[in-house]
Amino acid sequence: MRTTVGIVGAGPAGLLLARLLHRAGVDAAVLESRDRRHVERRQRAGILEQGTVDVLRAAGAGERMDREGLRHDGIELRYAGTRHRVDFPALTGGRSVMAYAQTEVCKDLIALRLADGGPLLFEAEALAVDGADTDRPRVRFRHRGVEDVLECDYVVGCDGSWGVTRRAVPAALSRVFEQTYPFGWLGVLADAPPSHDELVYARHDRGFALLSLRSPSVSRLYLQVPAGTDADSWDDGAIWDELERRVEAAGAPPLTRGPISQKSVTPMRSSVHEPMRYGRLYLAGDAAHIVPPTGAKGLNLAVGDVVTFARALVHRRETGSDALLDGYSATCLRRVWQAQRFSADLTALLHRAPDAPPFEDRLQHARLERLTSCRAAATDLAEGYTGLPF
Ligand SMILES: Cc1cc2nc3c(=O)[nH]c(=O)nc-3n(C[C@H](O)[C@H](O)[C@H](O)COP(=O)(O)OP(=O)(O)OC[C@H]3O[C@@H](n4cnc5c(N)ncnc54)[C@H](O)[C@@H]3O)c2cc1C
Repeated sequence: MRTTVGIVGAGPAGLLLARLLHRAGVDAAVLESRDRRHVERRQRAGILEQGTVDVLRAAGAGERMDREGLRHDGIELRYAGTRHRVDFPALTGGRSVMAYAQTEVCKDLIALRLADGGPLLFEAEALAVDGADTDRPRVRFRHRGVEDVLECDYVVGCDGSWGVTRRAVPAALSRVFEQTYPFGWLGVLADAPPSHDELVYARHDRGFALLSLRSPSVSRLYLQVPAGTDADSWDDGAIWDELERRVEAAGAPPLTRGPISQKSVTPMRSSVHEPMRYGRLYLAGDAAHIVPPTGAKGLNLAVGDVVTFARALVHRRETGSDALLDGYSATCLRRVWQAQRFSADLTALLHRAPDAPPFEDRLQHARLERLTSCRAAATDLAEGYTGLPF
């Protein structure tokens, strides 16, 4: 097989890149190790920054999102039994976010890719990228048991945090910056209407809790739990009781309970692989960086990376200049580190480390008070949450 851009991975990064390239008249092939059903059902992110919403619309992938997604103009912070709303449009000059699940973004982009004529190969596992430092990089892959080679002008590794493309960057040139947290998130999907029409972020002495949603009839709820917790050690009643305790605040409506259809524990970690480009191999999304989910940045960063790559490739075609492609890693990393900063700050603000001294508790309260009483501090949060422009 031969193509201009070989894309490894059909998560949001790979699928959106395929769409952007198709619209720009650049041919590409997407290899995805899992089957379509798996990719369309994997529960992950659900908050789209303003820039992501704009990109999806411009790519012709926003029709269902605009119909079924829920625009959010703010979040609620709860701590010490109090409630405080952060109003995004008022603080950012009109920006907001959209609650629209990653599963739905992937379904929309897969349908478009297939309508665009593909190729999008499911159950096609990339084994290795060869010749990344040459003009003809190749992806060796196995499709339904048969080995094949995809010859490309460029390879974009969109294969997530456990992918293989990153391994083509020589170890001597790679640097990985990492941080792990001593806690994770127990996330549940519940057939229950959301108790609040915006996301609720709660800081409590027993740990963090988040009330989120997937649709007007499905809630997505999270509890901070110690690292290594087994999700099955929590029964449904205990989950609801603990959520109730942690989000309790004066005047807050009681939680709407309902059957829990899924539960799992996500470890919390941050990592950045530098550089994000080696020769003609470009890393995008979780293949290059992981953020803790607190700031809802993972999917949005993936979008930022592939927009940067697509623009750089179009720039090369229009001007003959490789400048933007050469600058890909530096351009993306500026945004990535801002998202890491934002996610780390929000995580530290709201979670309680198992060994946190009382001094740290007081500091958290002081930070929250500052945030909820000072417009400049709230503006910083609102700008970070709604995202940097692409
Ligand atoms: C459990 C979990 C929960 C999350 N929750 C949130 C959240 O609440 N909010 C938030 O903002 N972010 C969340 N994230 C992060 C967010 O979902 C990711 O940042 C986002 O999926 C990144 O998209 P991506 O396309 O870069 O990678 P992925 O979505 O991981 O896609 C990578 C794709 O590559 C495929 N692949 C892997 N290896 C190969 C191979 N060798 N060959 C071919 N294909 C391969 C995979 O099957 C996958 O389809 C969560 C992530 C996880 C893992």
